[in-house]
Amino acid sequence: MSEMFKRATPLLETLRTAEDFNGKSRAHTRYQLVGRPRKLGRILIQGSAFVITVDGKNKLQVLPRHSIYIVGGVIKDVYPARQKKVPLEKIDLLYDGAKRGGIVVTPGFINGHAHPPMYLLRSSMTLDKGDIREQVTKMALLESKMRPRDFLIGAVGDFTEEQKNGITTILSHYATFEPIDRAAELTHENVINAISAVSNSHPENTPALVERILKQRKRYYSTPAISIHYLHKASRVELKKIRELVKRYRVLLTMHAAENEEWVQACVEKFGSRTVEALVELGLAGSHTVLSHAVHISDDEVRLIRKHKIGVVHLPTSNKLHKSGEFHYPEFVHAGADRQICLGTDSVISKNSLDLLSEALQTRIMHLDRHRVLYEDLFKMMTSQAAEILKLGRVGRILPGYRADLAFWKLKDRGFLPYNERNPVSLVGNMITHSGRMVRDLMVRGEFIISNRLHNLIDESELLLELQQAHMALRTRLRR
Ligand SMILES: [Zn+2]
Repeated sequence: MSEMFKRATPLLETLRTAEDFNGKSRAHTRYQLVGRPRKLGRILIQGSAFVITVDGKNKLQVLPRHSIYIVGGVIKDVYPARQKKVPLEKIDLLYDGAKRGGIVVTPGFINGHAHPPMYLLRSSMTLDKGDIREQVTKMALLESKMRPRDFLIGAVGDFTEEQKNGITTILSHYATFEPIDRAAELTHENVINAISAVSNSHPENTPALVERILKQRKRYYSTPAISIHYLHKASRVELKKIRELVKRYRVLLTMHAAENEEWVQACVEKFGSRTVEALVELGLAGSHTVLSHAVHISDDEVRLIRKHKIGVVHLPTSNKLHKSGEFHYPEFVHAGADRQICLGTDSVISKNSLDLLSEALQTRIMHLDRHRVLYEDLFKMMTSQAAEILKLGRVGRILPGYRADLAFWKLKDRGFLPYNERNPVSLVGNMITHSGRMVRDLMVRGEFIISNRLHNLIDESELLLELQQAHMALRTRLRR
C-alpha cells in the first residue's frame, strides 16, 4: 500500500537544520534544542500564558504563567514559571510558551464516537436538496465500493483533521480494523479501535474474528475494542459471546443506542424491552459499555444508566442533522448521571468540522431552554470525564503522572480575546463559544505531532490530493 503522504523528515532533524524550519519564518518558531540531543525525550514547556485543566479535586483551573515538564511522554511537573525548577542539562527541547502574547495549553481533547474511514465520503453530506435519509442511502452505496486503501486514507484524513482541532484520543467505531490501526500508527494518534462484531455490510465480522484480534492485541498500535452497529441487529447468541469477550479481555463495548424511536421499537420487538432495559437483561449493562446517541431513553433507563455506570456519548450536531430528536440532558442531571456523558463528532456525514469545541457549543445551545450546561462541565466532557468513561487511566488532565497529550493554542486569537484578566476562567467560555480555530502545536504521548501549525508526520498537501483522487475513483466504480 503506497503511503505517499508520509513525511520523510522527523521533527528532530528538521530542528537541527532549523534554517528551513517553517519556510523562512524561523523567528516564529517557539522550539529550541538544548545541546545536541539524540532524541526529544525531555521537554520543557516554558511559561505558558495559561494552562487550563481539571485538577485532582475535579475542579476546573486556569493557571496563569505556568511551565510543564515532560519526561518520556509523561507529565513530570507543572509549576509557576517564576520557579526555575528544571536545569538546562535535564532538557532536550525548550518550547517557549510566553512570547508573542503567549500560548494556552489544554489537555488534548477526547472524542467518544467517530467513523474515521467515512472521511472519504465527505461530499455525501451537502444538505442542499433532498432529505438526509436519501443522502445516507446514497452514501452507503458509495461506502460499499470502498477498498482497504480507501479505509486507510479516509482514516488518515479524519485523524489529521481531528488532531488539528486539538483531539488526541479517538474512539473509532467501524467494521474494518487493520486500516484504522495503520492510520493510527501513521499519525501517532491514540485510537480505541472498536471493530464490529456483527455487521450486515461485512458478514465476515463475527465475535470469533473480534476474539482473534483481542488475542493479539499487543501487536497493534491502536487499542482494540468491540462495537455493534445496533443492538437489535445482533442475535442473543452473538450477544452472549460478546458479553464473554468483554469480561475475558476487559475491553470496551460501544454501540449506537436509541438514536430514534424506530430502533427502540425494533429492540422491543426482538428482546421484549427498551434499549437500556434490554442491555441489563442481556448482561451487557456495565462501565465497559459506551452508548452513542442515547436519545430515546425513558427516565427509568436514565436511572439504569446511572446505576450500572454505563458511559454515554452525546452527539448533538448529528442528532440535529439526522432529526433524531433531543437528548434528555436535564433528566441525566436529575438522575446524577451527567458525569457519565462525554462528547463525540460522529463522521463527516453527521457533522461539519471534526472538532469538539463546536460540539460543546452545540450542546449548550441545544439544551439552553431547559438546562444551562456550564462551560466547566463542557470542558470536562471533552477531557477528564471522557478519559474516565473510556477507561483511559491517567489521561485528560495536566497534572504530574498524566500522559502528555496536550493541545497548544495561541492566546492572541479571536477565539480567546478579549477576555477578563481579573477572571481568566472566562477564557474557557470564549474558547467554546468562539471556537473553530486550529491548534498551533499538538503533543501526543510527549511527541510533537503538529509544530508551528504543520503536521510533522503527514504531508497534508499530498494527503488532500490523494483523498480527492480516491474519492473520484470511488464515484467511478459506483457508476460502473
Ligand atoms: Zn455513529
